[in-house]
Amino acid sequence: MLFHSTNGMARDVTFPAAIINGLAPDGGLYMPDRMPALPVALFRNIPEMSLREIGYVVCNTLLGELLSSSDIKHIVDDALDFPVPVRPLGSEQLYVMELFHGPTMSFKDAGARFMSRLLPALHGGRKTFNIILATSGDSGGALADSYKDNPDARVIVLYPRGELSRQQMAMFAGRKNVMSIEIGGTFDDCQALVKQALLDPAINRRMHLTSGNSINFARQFPSIIYFFHAYARALEAQPDSKKVRISVPCGNLGNLSAALMAKKMGLPVATFVGANNANDTFVEYLQTGGLRPRRALMTLARAMDVGNPSNLARIIDLYGGDIDRLRKEVIGVAYNDRDIVTTIREIYKAHGYLMGPQTATAYRALIDTIKPGETGVVMATGHPAKFPRATMEAIGKIPPPPRQLNDLNLSVTPSAKIPPTLPALTRVILR
Ligand SMILES: *Cc1c(COP(=O)(O)O)cnc(C)c1O
Repeated sequence: MLFHSTNGMARDVTFPAAIINGLAPDGGLYMPDRMPALPVALFRNIPEMSLREIGYVVCNTLLGELLSSSDIKHIVDDALDFPVPVRPLGSEQLYVMELFHGPTMSFKDAGARFMSRLLPALHGGRKTFNIILATSGDSGGALADSYKDNPDARVIVLYPRGELSRQQMAMFAGRKNVMSIEIGGTFDDCQALVKQALLDPAINRRMHLTSGNSINFARQFPSIIYFFHAYARALEAQPDSKKVRISVPCGNLGNLSAALMAKKMGLPVATFVGANNANDTFVEYLQTGGLRPRRALMTLARAMDVGNPSNLARIIDLYGGDIDRLRKEVIGVAYNDRDIVTTIREIYKAHGYLMGPQTATAYRALIDTIKPGETGVVMATGHPAKFPRATMEAIGKIPPPPRQLNDLNLSVTPSAKIPPTLPALTRVILR
């Protein structure tokens, strides 16, 4: 499998080369030239297959030329060592797939854990990596956790001032091999700065950087497994289901782009729903065909506060720029904070089930668009306890936090605070 850059300059790039830095030299994202199809026979058995069994097949299809099946099995078992339950919600054919039972309680755990195990496997056992990433909250903790037992790796986390909950910060700041840098700017500023650093020859001569964001294929593709799992569980629960519709809360579009790659690999899901919050760059792109990146607004669904989503480049590349074909497969809907709070409250009242704000956005988008006879699955991307403000506004109380969040030291401080400029970043990371 070979990769090209979405900006067109880099071609015939190998898998290991595509993930060692993560961003193509022309600033584009690496994409496989062709998404390989899963064996057709798989779809007869998929309702009986477990998450990990599905993971082996997906990874064998993508990595079989590079790694032995026993290595792949080992990586999948190790990376996906937590449950991903799919629960029915109410009496209709609606399911919630809970992707937040990993160590840092967001769907980012799978991508981070895969990436931290794949890089050394594909780079001859090399252990020293300098992982740099921008986080709106969840990626920082997921990457810090997935590298926590690796004293040779360094994780550099850039986060926007004033936008993370204390729990989210405590998941990476203060860790031994993590440098946490508070940026006087938005998540998009952090993301732009990380991209500059990844492409900067002076920094990379001194310290080779690897992207820890979903711009890195190694972190983005593992979500593909989740979409086959969602389909498998939907069919297991509703064997007569003719059509499955999956709704995804979108920020940087890493997760949704993985959904569409899964479809290219043969996933028989008819419709995907991409849910935006007030930062509706993607919904607007679907409506108008125009890409108008803008300053992100701060909302209650923080993890979706992206004004210039990186992985839109992957989606455009995957469809060869044919927006009409994309529109046949993806519907976009956007909601404001009031809609999100109302949705959390209503679901809690009706079912006693508490959703995080991102999940609630996707749930609302699902019930507003689902057609009779379809089975719907919502990607529940984050544990509600990570987003206490939304919970408080919706139901007026905060349930006791789960074990993973309870033991955190909440009084951590960042390693550095800088303005969003490359010279400032260079000074602190090369110090
Ligand atoms: C990162 C994140 C999202 C958005 O996912 P993208 O792949 O960036 O679109 C949604 N919900 C939660 C909880 C997240 O952490």
